[in-house]
Formats: sequence, structure tokens, C-alpha cells
Amino acid sequence: MFDNLSYKLDKAFKTLKGTGTITEINVASTVKEIRRALIDADVNYKVAKEVTDSIREKALGRDVLISVSPGQLLVKITQEELTALMGGSKEDINIKGDPSVILISGLQGSGKTTFSGKLASYLKKQGRQVLLVACDIYRPAAIDQLKVLGEQIGVEVYAEPENKNALQIAERAIEYAKKSGKKTVIVDTAGRLAVDEQMMNEIAELKLQLNPSETLFVVDSMTGQDAVNTAKTFDERLNFDGVVLTKLDGDTRGGAAISIRHVVNKPIKFISTGEKMENLDVFYPDRMAQRILG
Ligand code: GDP
Repeated sequence: MFDNLSYKLDKAFKTLKGTGTITEINVASTVKEIRRALIDADVNYKVAKEVTDSIREKALGRDVLISVSPGQLLVKITQEELTALMGGSKEDINIKGDPSVILISGLQGSGKTTFSGKLASYLKKQGRQVLLVACDIYRPAAIDQLKVLGEQIGVEVYAEPENKNALQIAERAIEYAKKSGKKTVIVDTAGRLAVDEQMMNEIAELKLQLNPSETLFVVDSMTGQDAVNTAKTFDERLNFDGVVLTKLDGDTRGGAAISIRHVVNKPIKFISTGEKMENLDVFYPDRMAQRILG
């Protein structure tokens, strides 16, 4: 994960090796390299500039202790700034209501259905009674995919394969959950290959009518700046509560993880690092910053 970015940042800090003091000149060249590394990793230019300006300011404002080299100090400040940029501390999903409804949104192929299964398994392990609902009405295979996942993790899946009305399916599923004592309902919705009006209307309607306690936006981290732009578009229509970044196990450059929180102002809540049901992690900004810095 982020190998290239970690390597370039490490190289940037090494330019300070052998220097005993922080000066405007040596900090400026390191900060320039940090900025270039972030931009190469697909971090939005404005975000990269803001964060590196802040790193420079803080570095120049701090006294270097005898025990800390300028390089170590810059690493520490960069880690603090990246952590803050990614949200500071972890944020939990909201689960309330009887049943509590969690709506899953995103483009097709982003990993929505896989994540729905993972979230169900994660919540089940916390002792919750979960119902998965198949509302991806345009992709018949999605229903089967969810059923297979449900069987694998021991979670019931509600589906109406012949019904093309997502809202009706979800409402009936919630009724069913009430009757069968399921306290948490996860609704997997339809996605398209690109944002389109019909999809947006449909998911916005689901959110309005179902009144979920949590709406999550799932996005493929490999799509870089597109991930951030898509998140912005979805948020403008949906005002979602949190982001799920998927495919962090792949050859992702890291830009989405670093900039999404700052650009969209919504927290990343989970990261997905593989196709298996156990490849799900709660997102901790400080741990991610540590990983980025290698
Ligand atoms: P949906 O169309 O948004 O429901 O996407 P799917 O859940 O069907 O996922 C699309 C593809 O990405 C599938 O082949 C999944 O196995 C795969 N996938 C999902 N999440 C991850 C992940 O975190 N890492 C990797 N490597 N593959 C993933």
C-alpha cells in the first residue's frame, strides 16, 4: 500500500540528513519534495499545497531538540499534519432506530456488495441481528452475489428478484426485519458505471423515505482524483455520513485516502483491503499516516 509515496517521502526527508539545524532553505527544499510526492500520489493540488505550507510553518516554528534531528522532526510534523488532514480521530457509524437502517451507495464496481457483506459480518460479530437487503435491481447477479455472501457469513438476505422497485423492496424488508427481530438492516443499492441523474434520484429517494441512521458512500481508492470528485457529487445529493475506501490492497497511489476527508468534509469510516469477508478495517487516521510514512 502506498509504496511509491512512502519511498518518495522517505527520500524527501533524507535531504535533511546530515544537517544539524532547521533553516528556511533546507526546509523549503524538503517541503517542495513532499508536495511533489503527494501530487504524484494523486493528492489534489490545493490540498497538497495547504498541507505542505502548514508543515513548513510548523517546522520553522519549532526548536529542534538536541535529541531530534531536523529529518526526524519533519517526519513527526508530516505525520501530525497527515493525521489531521484525514480527520484526526476515528469516527464510528451511527446505529440507532428499531431497526437501524444503513444505506450503502456508490458506483458500480466500487465494491458496494462486497462491503455490505463485510459490514454485516462485522456487526454480527458485535452481537447484532442483521438483515441484508438486495436493492441492486439492475444487476441481477448482485442479488445472487449477496445471497452467496449472506450464506457464507450466516446472515439472512432479503430479496425480491422480480421486483424492480427498490423503495418497495427496502420498505418490505424493513417490515420483515421488525417481524423477525432483526435490529440492523443493511441496504445494498444499485450503482452505474458513471454518475447519472436517474441513479441519483433513486438513491436520494431511498435516503429520504427510509431515513437511515447511516448512509455510507463506497469508493474505489484506485480511481484517485476521480474518487474524490465522485464523492463530492454523491455528497451534494445525498449528504452521506461516511466514506468506505475499497481496494487499498491494490496498486493504489493513496491520493483518495489523503484528500477525500478534506475536500468533501466527511470522515472515512472503513477501509477494505481485499475480496475476503475479513478484509475490512475501521479507519484510524493516525495509523494510516503512519503507514504512509512507512
Ligand atoms: P459493486 O458493483 O459496487 O457491488 O461491487 P462488487 O462488490 O461486486 O465489487 C466489484 C469487484 O471488486 C469484485 O470483483 C470484488 O471482489 C472486488 N472487490 C471489492 N472490494 C475489494 C477490495 O477491497 N480489494 C480488492 N482487491 N477487490 C475488491
